[in-house]
Amino acid sequence: MFKKTLAGMCGLLISLAACQSPDSAQAEQHGAQETSAVADTVKREPRPKPEYYNFKGVERKRVYICMDATEDTFHQQHDCPVLVTCKGQFRNLILARAIENFDRYNCETCSADLGYIFDETYAPY
Ligand SMILES: [Zn+2]
Repeated sequence: MFKKTLAGMCGLLISLAACQSPDSAQAEQHGAQETSAVADTVKREPRPKPEYYNFKGVERKRVYICMDATEDTFHQQHDCPVLVTCKGQFRNLILARAIENFDRYNCETCSADLGYIFDETYAPY
C-alpha cells in the first residue's frame, strides 16, 4: 500500500517536473534576452514624459534625438551605438528642447553622466 502511494507520488513528481521544465527553460531564455538587449532601446515602449528634471547649466548643450515614436532618449554622441540603430530621422537640438518638447531622457549608453537631471534627490547646490 505504502509502496503504491510512493510510486504514485513519484509519477506525479516526474510529470510535474516534466511540465515545469519548458516553462523554466523559457524563463531563462527570456532573462538572457533581456540582459543582452540592454542597449536596444528601439523596441521598448517609450517612457512617459519626465515628471522631474533640472537641466540648469546644461540646457544649451547640443544633443541628438531619433525621431521615432518608440524612442525616449537623447544622445550626446552622434555615433552612439543606440542612436545609430535609429530608423527614423535624427535631430540635433539643445537639451532643454529635447526634454521639454520631446519628453526625452538621457541615453544610458552615451549620456549616463546626465542621469542626475532626472534625479529628484540630486542637489547640486
Ligand atoms: Zn546614446
